[in-house]
Amino acid sequence: MDNDLPPQKKKLAIGWFSFTCCEDSTILLTELLNKNFDAWRKVVDFKHMKVLKTKNDMTNLDVAFIEGAASSQKQEDEMKKIRENAKYVIAVGSCAVTGLPSATRNQFVDSELNEKIQWYIKTFSYGQKVKKLDEVVKVDDYVAGCPMNVELFTQTLDKYLKLFGII
Ligand code: SF4
Repeated sequence: MDNDLPPQKKKLAIGWFSFTCCEDSTILLTELLNKNFDAWRKVVDFKHMKVLKTKNDMTNLDVAFIEGAASSQKQEDEMKKIRENAKYVIAVGSCAVTGLPSATRNQFVDSELNEKIQWYIKTFSYGQKVKKLDEVVKVDDYVAGCPMNVELFTQTLDKYLKLFGII
């Protein structure tokens, strides 16, 4: 081992996760990366980001960004696993922040929850209710918008880069 190597500078270890939603915030993120990738990769370790790479690691994250609502027990369990592996969890986009529009079926009246809908819920093991992120896990910050508000997202990223003493 070469002890003369300069110490590796700490980067913000982040994960990006999508649940029940249209993934438009992910699309916005990739648009942002077109412009910001070179600058961000100096300070951000994209540890888990399926839109960028196939080999991902969700352990020991500083910040987990989660878009989408939880529509099944399986998704709730995955969200809890992310929470256990991240120091901070940020809800991204309206579906994660408020549940809507992904949770629209929660507003159906009983007569609209017909046999066909029940068949889908049962066949695909969906929950009876679609939940926003903070109904499942503790959330530290919210980036609202449908899709996410870009300015708010970059402000939030900066906030955590500062919090971890990286910038
Ligand atoms: S908040 Fe809007 S843009 Fe984001 S996943 Fe939900 S529906 Fe799509």
